[in-house]
Amino acid sequence: MRYTDKTVLITGAATGIGRATASAFAREGAAVMIGDLDEGAAQTVTAIEEMGGRAAWRHCDVSDLSETEALIADCATRFGGLHAAFNNAGILTPFAPLHDTDPADYTHVMAVNAGGVFNAMRAEISWMIEHGGGAIVNTASVGGVIANPGMAPYIAAKHAVVGLTRTAALDYARLGIRTNAICPGLVRTAMTADWFEDATFIDSFYESSPIGRAAEPAEIAGMVLHLCSDEASFTNGAVITMDGGQTAI
Ligand code: NAD
Repeated sequence: MRYTDKTVLITGAATGIGRATASAFAREGAAVMIGDLDEGAAQTVTAIEEMGGRAAWRHCDVSDLSETEALIADCATRFGGLHAAFNNAGILTPFAPLHDTDPADYTHVMAVNAGGVFNAMRAEISWMIEHGGGAIVNTASVGGVIANPGMAPYIAAKHAVVGLTRTAALDYARLGIRTNAICPGLVRTAMTADWFEDATFIDSFYESSPIGRAAEPAEIAGMVLHLCSDEASFTNGAVITMDGGQTAI
């Protein structure tokens, strides 16, 4: 019960990695505030309440600064604090070589995947500076440290998340705020559901993966809980690949 009497904010927890992480935090005693634009977030809240935990959600498009600021303010008011934040909301864009990429897709994914992390960190850090610090984990991707063909906007946005994470780690560590990023490889979620329907793709991915499989969302959650806890008190500015060895090749 590492999170008894703690409040954790999570963006993008209607499904996938965010939902699994919200449940894991709640199981360890945290009150969980979720920001999402998908009403599926209500199901995450219900699941947490059914196991005796505390959670709430608020509609929030993380690409909108004022909505994101309102989310952080609501979290602090409702649950009396903000001890840790997991900035996880994200989207994929259609595959295309860069010269065929719709500029609107580039703008959109940068606004959500990078801008959303910027907006959330800006509000969270402002609050944490005034209230004794905290821990932040951002969801980047293996696409934040290496590239995949046909994914220029997503890769650019995830590299930006790594840059935002490292810069905040330098700027705020002495103010008691640790900032780290996780870089998952392939995880079975709503975002990647179509990929798992494509037997050729998935067979070839498993063949090339050192561990020979994809991750389940719960396998990502554990690292987030660790990074937000006092066990990780000296971990700051880390960019942690969680990819079954994909980037070790
Ligand atoms: P998912 O689609 O299950 O979850 C994404 C969540 O973000 C959903 O709850 C969605 O409603 C929310 N969201 C999307 N746009 C939003 C916005 N503008 N404002 C607020 N919420 C928004 O997918 P997932 O795989 O769990 O993705 C979570 C994070 O993990 C994303 O940042 C994704 O890029 C990253 N990631 C996923 C994988 C993978 O293989 N699934 C790998 C590496 C990184």
